[in-house]
Amino acid sequence: MTSTKTPLGLWRRLPLWQRIILGLTLGVLTGALFGEDASIFKPLGDIFINAIRMLIVPLVFTTLIVGITAMRDPQKMGRIGGKTILLYLLTTAFAIAIGLLASTIFQPGAGVHVDLEGDMVSQDAPSLVQILVNLVPRNPIDALANGNIMQIIVFAVGIGIALIMIGEKGKPVMALFDSFAEVMYKLTEFVMAFAPFGVFGLMAHVAGHYGLDVLIPLAKVILVAYIASIAHVLIIYSGLLTLLARLNPIRYLTGIVDALVVAFSSASSSGTLPVSMRCAQRNLGVSPAVSGFVLPVGATINMDGTAIYQGVVALFIAQMVGVDLSLMDYGMIIVTGTLASIGTAGVPGAGLIMLSIVLSQVGLPLEAVAVIGGIDRILDMARTSVNVAGDLMVTVLVGRSEGELDQAVYDEKQTRA
Ligand code: ASP
Repeated sequence: MTSTKTPLGLWRRLPLWQRIILGLTLGVLTGALFGEDASIFKPLGDIFINAIRMLIVPLVFTTLIVGITAMRDPQKMGRIGGKTILLYLLTTAFAIAIGLLASTIFQPGAGVHVDLEGDMVSQDAPSLVQILVNLVPRNPIDALANGNIMQIIVFAVGIGIALIMIGEKGKPVMALFDSFAEVMYKLTEFVMAFAPFGVFGLMAHVAGHYGLDVLIPLAKVILVAYIASIAHVLIIYSGLLTLLARLNPIRYLTGIVDALVVAFSSASSSGTLPVSMRCAQRNLGVSPAVSGFVLPVGATINMDGTAIYQGVVALFIAQMVGVDLSLMDYGMIIVTGTLASIGTAGVPGAGLIMLSIVLSQVGLPLEAVAVIGGIDRILDMARTSVNVAGDLMVTVLVGRSEGELDQAVYDEKQTRA
């Protein structure tokens, strides 16, 4: 037994989420104190990111198969799919509106002068047909090897439904996946024990890298993006949870702290997936069937934070270069911003690349992407946190409406370690 008086003993007594927040705080302080030198801690962050990425494919694959076979109802799966997509679209629409509203009210680009230089090439938004065609894996092993989450979901749902239909004969395979999923949950626990150190390393590097001299000229747009992000989570998510599910939003917010901090420090919502799954199941009481489906789909297509960012930044750039946008332009930003957010991969910096789609649609200078590029990581941390919070909120709503949420676990006061 370690005494609770020693630092190690104290550390062990803290719940995991507090250890992670401590890692984040110490990381920021270390970065602020040592500047670029704090990057020597970055490998800790890289190890952590690699370790959670290691979990994603086997975790999503096994959880989903186990979840579907446990539910034993392919029709229910279809209904869950429909609700999931609908809610994801709805929250994204709110997000982009909030982004536009925030930039209209606070005018972050007014009076900002930055030289625009360099050539940028616009991206094309993927077509809907192409997205649908690409959902079906030509080779499932290839999808698993490359971590193509949507294709893995399609394959896993297929296997799950087939297993239900063949009944007795499927038992050995079901038992195998069942046991494999348990192994993955345990492995996730090991990786999460390292999270405080990983988060420390990531934050020390980021805080050391971005000095105030880079941040101050663009402080206003950063502030507006953060205000819009926080407002979206506090107003829209809490509001929907209260109105649609009659659930206490505070429990949701405290239950997702681990995922928020990992998303914030890693800037990758796909990478945060194993942590989100753990929060959904252990803290919010959502069944593996629902969380195993809704969260991976969300990590791929639902990017509310990215949508907010597209709205805030597009208007910021318009204000900066002095372009008056028409009502049509606003409509265009809403449509392309939504599509761009759906097409954004859950990896660091992906939203910045997609920004060029929105800018080119409304005729704003693509060179402005370079201006934002200098501070994008700071914006990315906020948008990734919202992306993850949004996935978890919809997971709770769908779980609740399908009777797949354990109210006792959700209401439990103490977030589990
Ligand atoms: N980094 C974000 C995420 O992983 C995507 C983005 O860049 O907007 O969710």
